[in-house]
Amino acid sequence: MSANSSFRVPMTKTPDIEAELVVLGAGPGGYTAAFRAADLGKKVVLVERAPVLGGVCLNVGCIPSKALLHAAKVVSETREMASAGLGFTPPSIDLAKLRGWKDGIVGRLTSGLSALAKQRKVTVVTGTARFVSAREIEVDRDGARSRISFEHAIIAAGSEPAKLPFIPHDDPRVLDSTGALDLADVPKRLLVIGGGIIGLEMATVYHALGSRVSVVELMDQIIPGADRDIVAPLMKHIKARYEQIHLDTKVSKVEPGSAGLTVAFEGAHTHTDTFDRILVAVGRVPNGRQLSLDAAGVAIDAQGYIPVDRQMRTNIPHIFAIGDIVGQPMLAHKAVHEGKIAAEVAAGRTSTFDARVIPSVAYTDPEVAWVGLTENEAKDKAIAYGKGSFPWAASGRALSLGRDEGLTKVLFDPETHRILGCGIVGPNAGDLIAEAALAIEMGADATDIASTIHPHPTLSETFAQSAEMFEGTITDLMPKQSQRR
Ligand code: NAD
Repeated sequence: MSANSSFRVPMTKTPDIEAELVVLGAGPGGYTAAFRAADLGKKVVLVERAPVLGGVCLNVGCIPSKALLHAAKVVSETREMASAGLGFTPPSIDLAKLRGWKDGIVGRLTSGLSALAKQRKVTVVTGTARFVSAREIEVDRDGARSRISFEHAIIAAGSEPAKLPFIPHDDPRVLDSTGALDLADVPKRLLVIGGGIIGLEMATVYHALGSRVSVVELMDQIIPGADRDIVAPLMKHIKARYEQIHLDTKVSKVEPGSAGLTVAFEGAHTHTDTFDRILVAVGRVPNGRQLSLDAAGVAIDAQGYIPVDRQMRTNIPHIFAIGDIVGQPMLAHKAVHEGKIAAEVAAGRTSTFDARVIPSVAYTDPEVAWVGLTENEAKDKAIAYGKGSFPWAASGRALSLGRDEGLTKVLFDPETHRILGCGIVGPNAGDLIAEAALAIEMGADATDIASTIHPHPTLSETFAQSAEMFEGTITDLMPKQSQRR
């Protein structure tokens, strides 16, 4: 069998390829599973409908958005340094070049993946797969069909943007995350529907490029999964810069016209307004219904998710599922972790999903990150907690970045003083949260964290300082007499 990175299989009815393991979908979860299984000695076939590996994350998600967010950061930092006496002329924006730079970054990563697949002798088949039985899939590539039989399968077919019934999604002025990352132009007025992670990250990019941005969010706060105090500095930052932010509001109608898309809002801000472009970012739906799972007997729930056990097995024991298709949170790092478990179990190991926590990050400006227990969740579930918070206004490093609005908040078990959760808002919060995730996995307590010598001056000190706030040993701030220990 060829180990080519792209492989066109002949059209016959008997299996064209016999795989020990077939992986459906080559996003971060799928390619990780395929590579791990190959490293454990399995003969692996990786099926992907797109012509390149990497899935949504590498091609039209995490990576291109982070490239554009970096560009946005450079633009906004040059503006913000005016108050420090550094003046820059406004940037000239060559959209074609910016797009090319972003695509170049994606291309480097996806070609690296193809090389890794080749080195591991993973056979990559390009085409759209569906199950024909519990032991065979059919792959369609431009009408040419081929069959792959398997001993084990891992379904890693991901998710796609959710659509709203009253929105003319066919109108080219209505974008989803993929369209927004294409960067066709910079609209004068952009409406972002959904104040979640995708909506706010793309709002950050388009605002920096010159769009007047409005955001409409159904709930009473942006990023509803995070605590309000952690989101507040981001809300303040964007409120001062964006045209409008409507909370507790939904869009009830969108009418395309020659002057733009006229949008009817209902709720806390009932009115109509006209925009040049709309980005719809109201969540993602799993691709579970696109795979003829019934032919394999794989169960699927009402929302299209595939239920799995802690070894990532579906109800059919030799078929596994991982990533967005098995449920929330839809995050690449969760899919990667699950992919390794599924591959190891398929290869005969006894691995189990036993991660305590999965961190979440919005790469906005400022970044918002949280892991483990949130205060909202603690209150909802009546979980006892204590907390230590450290405002970045008292951090020398934050001040030297010209950013004092950040906050690090750590929740602890009031009895054992073990860390339960952490929320961070501020530049680089997404990198800083990893230390809290490690502390939770290791069962660290407040003294462990406070006594770990953190480099000075860094933003990472705020994590230890939050533990000192909880313990009452802080010297960088003046706690109340009753809180000193
Ligand atoms: P999301 O769930 O993060 O946010 C969607 C938002 O839309 C929510 O706040 C919701 O209340 C709101 N909403 C829903 N219906 C609405 C309506 N009719 N009108 C107005 N608001 C409405 O979803 P997303 O931002 O689309 O992202 C999809 C998935 O991708 C998420 O699971 C997210 O975690 C993941 N993702 C992660 C990252 C990252 O890790 N940085 C980046 C992008 C996407």
